[in-house]
Amino acid sequence: MPVYKAPVDEVLFLLNDVFQISRYNNLPGFADASPDLLEPILSEAAKLCEEVVQPLNLPGDREGCTRHADGSVTTPKGFKEGFKQYTDGGWMGISAPTEYGGQGLPGLMTTLANEMLNSASMAFAMYPGLTQGATAAILRHGTDEQKAAYLPKMVEGRWTGTMNLTEPHCGTDLGLLRTKAVKQSDGSYKITGTKIFISAGEHDLAENIIHLVLARIEGAPAGTRGISLFIVPKFLPKPDGSPGTRNAVACGSIEEKMGIHANSTCVMNYDGATGFLIGEENRGLNAMFTMMNEARLGVGVQGLALSEVAYQNAAVYARDRLQGRALTGPKFADKAADPIIVHPDVRRMLMTMRAFNEAARALVVWTALQADIAHRSPDEKARQAADDHMGLLTPVVKGMLTDQGFANTVLAQQIFGGHGYIAEHGMEQFVRDARIAMIYEGANGIQGLDLIGRKLPKDAGRAMQAFFAEVQGYIKAHGDETMKPYVAPLMAALGHLQQATMWLMQNAMAKPDNGGAAATDYLGLFGLCALGYMWCRMAETAQAKIASGNGVAERMKGKLVTGRFFMERMLPETAAHLARIQAGAASMMELPAEAF
Ligand SMILES: Cc1cc2nc3c(=O)[nH]c(=O)nc-3n(C[C@H](O)[C@H](O)[C@H](O)COP(=O)(O)OP(=O)(O)OC[C@H]3O[C@@H](n4cnc5c(N)ncnc54)[C@H](O)[C@@H]3O)c2cc1C
Repeated sequence: MPVYKAPVDEVLFLLNDVFQISRYNNLPGFADASPDLLEPILSEAAKLCEEVVQPLNLPGDREGCTRHADGSVTTPKGFKEGFKQYTDGGWMGISAPTEYGGQGLPGLMTTLANEMLNSASMAFAMYPGLTQGATAAILRHGTDEQKAAYLPKMVEGRWTGTMNLTEPHCGTDLGLLRTKAVKQSDGSYKITGTKIFISAGEHDLAENIIHLVLARIEGAPAGTRGISLFIVPKFLPKPDGSPGTRNAVACGSIEEKMGIHANSTCVMNYDGATGFLIGEENRGLNAMFTMMNEARLGVGVQGLALSEVAYQNAAVYARDRLQGRALTGPKFADKAADPIIVHPDVRRMLMTMRAFNEAARALVVWTALQADIAHRSPDEKARQAADDHMGLLTPVVKGMLTDQGFANTVLAQQIFGGHGYIAEHGMEQFVRDARIAMIYEGANGIQGLDLIGRKLPKDAGRAMQAFFAEVQGYIKAHGDETMKPYVAPLMAALGHLQQATMWLMQNAMAKPDNGGAAATDYLGLFGLCALGYMWCRMAETAQAKIASGNGVAERMKGKLVTGRFFMERMLPETAAHLARIQAGAASMMELPAEAF
């Protein structure tokens, strides 16, 4: 059985030492997230994830979800009880507003708890994850009546939520969407159409399911400008708020799929179901996009979460598995062979995962903190700068963390050799589960296009300029010898990013294929620079902690070594990204479609 230990110390290092979140205690909810309060909250989350949720992961994968003849769906054994413990603990609403029954803590805390929950079981974590996404949409775009009717139940976790965008012929290109909405005399709508791949579309964990559905109102313009967003409850709430009449929405089937078997992925049939408009008519995509940043950050976190749990298991195995002798002579002469952790190639894989996980978590904390500032700061300028940061970094976090997160689950599996391919160790499950995060919530190719096509040019490049200014400012201010092993490679990488950005400005405007051909590499290059910057910030903090001699020197020294590995062996990949970007689209686009 795989193991998992939530990285509470790592998180506290980031919150208290690197990002010093006590500096933000003027923001609503942050005063309750002081260092002495953070530790018990994170430890409680860790306990739930390690002791209740993680043991459900492997058996849940084997059993999967079952759809019954009446359209109902049951989740694997233990999920209902686990979900109840999660909701009884108030975890669904730790960051939700207190007026709706939440605890009002920073959104950052939900992000961090969700990393642990996804490491414990990604399939389990998706039920609350989708609910938190739907809650955010209603919170931001719903009327007061809608908020009062749905939010308290969803924050409590008695009702869960879903997001219904995808249709059989329309995934990335939502302009093709056909689900129809017809206005009724009482102001409600009748929704008709088929949605596919709907996560948590039907299950037995909650007494009601609140579907958020994109549909086209009769007579609305074609394309993305004619799409509206609707609340379609499984049971229509009665005036007293309890679930009433069953709505005309049903799960037609559940998908047979590669991973996350314990999460029900449903075909949802809407057959004249009663729906309620949320936000303005024909502005449904805008409503979706305002919460897209956070949803994408959440998926990026899944990449990190799977990489972390896969790493932990690979590290245990590498210390245990005896094969061969160290190149420098036996390290454990009393044993039949040395543990495989003595081999540099096994170290290469472990260090790659570790160096990524620590920096990726820092990037998540930095970005989630900006989301809180963007929503909660009283200062308009601070809100705007944070919103710029979120917008720019979100596709990077989603694309980079899920691409590398998946790659890391493969590395961890590799460390297990043939045993990694055998189901009982759980390593192949991590690979299968991690794979979907590269596809949903906007396939990763689309994240690159979003970055170069929308986020870079937005507001005349204001967000990108702010990013460059921050990293350059940091490099300038940290030119001392001790920081040189970190700052000098970052400077080179940033130079590559600047050259790539300039190349795009000069070569992609007139020839858009050059932009399309560069997008994935540009995202990878940007991601490496962002992680490199995180490593500098962590190394600086680790050095300060070692100098202050406060008893964590060994862990901090380990951090400095891991950071050096990243700088020496991972960050130089920026040069290859730049070379590919500058090669342009010619060889990619030359062959005619029939030649493939
Ligand atoms: C397990 C699972 C759970 C899911 N959960 C949900 C859910 O809860 N709610 C929901 O609404 N959807 C959900 N989805 C759907 C998911 O979001 C879509 O599959 C995804 O957005 C991609 O759409 P598609 O499958 O139609 O691929 P397509 O849009 O057909 O894309 C195919 C490929 O072409 C590329 N491509 C497409 N257009 C372009 C372009 N313009 N430029 C460059 N490349 C392009 C894509 O990057 C991709 O690689 C889920 C899917 C799965 C498998």
